[in-house]
Amino acid sequence: MTSIWLDEIAPDVHSPLDGDTTADVAIVGAGIAGVATAYHVSRSGAKVIVLEARTVAEAASGRNAGFLLAGVAENFVAAARRYGEDRALRIWRFTRRNQELLRAIVERERIACDLAWNGSAQIAGDDEEWVEVRESAERLKKEGVRVRLAPEDRGAIYEEDGELHPVRFVRGLAGAAAAAGTRIHDGTRAIAVTKNEVRTDRARVQAGAVVVCVNAYSPHLVPLRVRPVRGQMLATAPVARRVFERPAYANRGYRYWRQRADGSLLVGGWRDTAADEEVGEDERTTPRIQQQLERFLREHCVDAKVTHRWAGTMGFSHDALPYVGRLDSGVFVNAGFTGHGMAFATATGELVADVLRGNKRNETDLFAPERR
Ligand SMILES: Cc1cc2nc3c(=O)[nH]c(=O)nc-3n(C[C@H](O)[C@H](O)[C@H](O)COP(=O)(O)OP(=O)(O)OC[C@H]3O[C@@H](n4cnc5c(N)ncnc54)[C@H](O)[C@@H]3O)c2cc1C
Repeated sequence: MTSIWLDEIAPDVHSPLDGDTTADVAIVGAGIAGVATAYHVSRSGAKVIVLEARTVAEAASGRNAGFLLAGVAENFVAAARRYGEDRALRIWRFTRRNQELLRAIVERERIACDLAWNGSAQIAGDDEEWVEVRESAERLKKEGVRVRLAPEDRGAIYEEDGELHPVRFVRGLAGAAAAAGTRIHDGTRAIAVTKNEVRTDRARVQAGAVVVCVNAYSPHLVPLRVRPVRGQMLATAPVARRVFERPAYANRGYRYWRQRADGSLLVGGWRDTAADEEVGEDERTTPRIQQQLERFLREHCVDAKVTHRWAGTMGFSHDALPYVGRLDSGVFVNAGFTGHGMAFATATGELVADVLRGNKRNETDLFAPERR
């Protein structure tokens, strides 16, 4: 079954590429990463072409929960343990930049995407996580982050976080990129890339630079350590009462839910209960996960009808941070978002555009694609 988002919006029609052509920058993939990269690059006046195997936002970018969170999946204490406190703070700031950049673009381009800033709840699944959630909030408060504890839920409310309709946003952004001169071709699968060429089964594109933005599908084109991981969700018909005040992210990010403005409920995750099965590129729902999503729903809202069940494929990196920049081969990448592309990719697209223009950006080391 398709996602609630894709079901609501018909795709814009972009014809397939069926002859050789040239561009300043060729981008492969039209999810949030490819489209954001195209938007930023084309605004600098470069001639951009985007090649998409399916349609814009049809893969993970049209199948997610639409959370715009700051930080990574884990709480800040866990992130600091993994990356070191200094890097964890830099990552935090980068994702805040992503939020502000997205807000500015939505305003500038007048993208109707149900963008709302109701904050998010980070909810602990056990005692150990609750200690970390509390400590994370205390630590980030010192950085000026607007966060407060909600002890009754063993959670912390991050007031600056947002939510949106991902398909409306990505397709709106694609429209803005097209208005800035980007040519988009759907139904056009790249079969090989080099630093100056993309080959499809029908055409060749010669370009000054090639940027691969295919996330989970990266290993088919470039030597990136990305592995495909499945995420599943469900959605209900509108429910009249407010069941959830704001998007919630629980059990170290493995479980999440939100209620849209129209009252419909979205529940996703529970991948941790079937980690062995929830891998690969198959966008298939399974009873094992769907029953758990539905059980959670029934615990909170007794009888809403489930209208949509869907799955999407995420691209996990080796250390849960994206790979953004130039590979040794000269090909550029913007991928490996580890289930957090909405939180990163508007800003990583800008980062790639800056690097292509030869501008120095101090975040390039955080996301260096060939880091160990
Ligand atoms: C169930 C679920 C819930 C999620 N919830 C959230 C959330 O709330 N917040 C958040 O930040 N993130 C969330 N994510 C993750 C987020 O959706 C992804 O990180 C993000 O969409 C990745 O964007 P992308 O553009 O890199 O990849 P994709 O959206 O997967 O786009 C890649 C595109 O490349 C195309 N492609 C692949 N191979 C080729 C080829 N050879 N030639 C041409 N085109 C090709 C594909 O067709 C696809 O359109 C969730 C993901 C899932 C599955």
